[in-house]
Amino acid sequence: MIELVSAERCIACDKCVEVCPTDVFERGPEGIPLLARQEDCQTCFLCEANCPVDALFVAPLTRPLPEDPAVRDEAGLVSRGLLGSYRREIGWGEGRTPGSLRAIGPPLGRSAPPITS
Ligand code: SF4
Ligand code: SF4
Repeated sequence: MIELVSAERCIACDKCVEVCPTDVFERGPEGIPLLARQEDCQTCFLCEANCPVDALFVAPLTRPLPEDPAVRDEAGLVSRGLLGSYRREIGWGEGRTPGSLRAIGPPLGRSAPPITS
């Protein structure tokens, strides 16, 4: 579930607002998205995958994290490499290798055998 928008990192590009299938975000002051409907989050990670500056943290849970603010502490999340970690893992972003090229399976390309059913 979406848990954090880093106002410090956000460049107000609106990508997360546009890609969220359940309309969780509202454009806030200065363009920083607000979590207007967190309860509607489907934990699909699309927002985190599309954020160009790793400003979002989606926890891999289907319920919100506990109220304790310590679990959303931005410095702590950054130090554990969790902001934008989904985007990094799938290899989206400049200079990264897309995950599809690292997937296990038969090599794709001209020399690959034709796929038959
Ligand atoms: S994880 Fe998916 S459903 Fe949740 S806020 Fe991000 S884009 Fe929306
Ligand atoms: S995608 Fe990232 S940079 Fe763009 S508005 Fe959302 S949080 Fe901000």
